[in-house]
Amino acid sequence: MKYLTLSDKDGNEYLVKATSARSMTRKFCPKCEKFMLMSNFYKNSNHIDGRQGRCKKCSAKYQNAGRERLRDELAAMRGQK
Ligand SMILES: [Zn+2]
Repeated sequence: MKYLTLSDKDGNEYLVKATSARSMTRKFCPKCEKFMLMSNFYKNSNHIDGRQGRCKKCSAKYQNAGRERLRDELAAMRGQK
């Protein structure tokens, strides 16, 4: 079976079946390094296959990490004033 490697705007690479990305039933999560059912991925119309590049579990982890970083940055900004 032939797969294409795609990159999203965050620079994450993931594999899709070469035929029709939007009709896939499974998608590769680069963080888990395995294929999972599409239902494990959040919908995102900005992506070529209509789903986010990471699975739900990894997206949640990433978003939590982003929030913590933002909080640290805000705290640092407040500290400078
Ligand atoms: Zn994952």
